[in-house]
Amino acid sequence: MIIGIIHVNRKKGKPSPCKRCKETIATGEVHAVVIVRYGKAQEAMFKMKAAQGQAWTRKVGLKYRRLHLKNCLAEWLAFTYLQRTESRRERKGGRPPLPNMSPEEKLVRHRLVRRRAEIIRQIDTTDDTTRITILADRLLEIQGQMEVPVTPPLKNNMQRNMVLSKVQKKINTALEEQS
Ligand SMILES: [Zn+2]
Repeated sequence: MIIGIIHVNRKKGKPSPCKRCKETIATGEVHAVVIVRYGKAQEAMFKMKAAQGQAWTRKVGLKYRRLHLKNCLAEWLAFTYLQRTESRRERKGGRPPLPNMSPEEKLVRHRLVRRRAEIIRQIDTTDDTTRITILADRLLEIQGQMEVPVTPPLKNNMQRNMVLSKVQKKINTALEEQS
């Protein structure tokens, strides 16, 4: 992961706070300046804010992070790395890790997850209520065979959430019509 370009400079002008410990970097002190470029996510965020009419000044897409050379630089790098991997996982709708499974169990689960996804896709693309109830039964059966249920998508994964709620509505409607 490219976090930025690190410069090591002697502090010129006024003293300023360290991004990590918030304590002063004195004039003349040798310190690190990390030049962070806005990534795709920040760019998208900027466009969204601008579209909502929220004034935002963009300093040509660059941010400067001043840090003490001693521990602050290392700590800030580790913190930034964690923060970015975390937010990336959330954006991409990642899921929590699975418990330890044998290769055999993994294979079984993989097949069930794929079958489940296929059935969800089939329900999504049909309007035949009889077919939907049959597919819904199969879906329940597959979910029953899974020792660890498929975790629901995170809130941020709107696309998946939309498909799932649409499919659930279709199942509910089909079941109501049948009874
Ligand atoms: Zn510091």
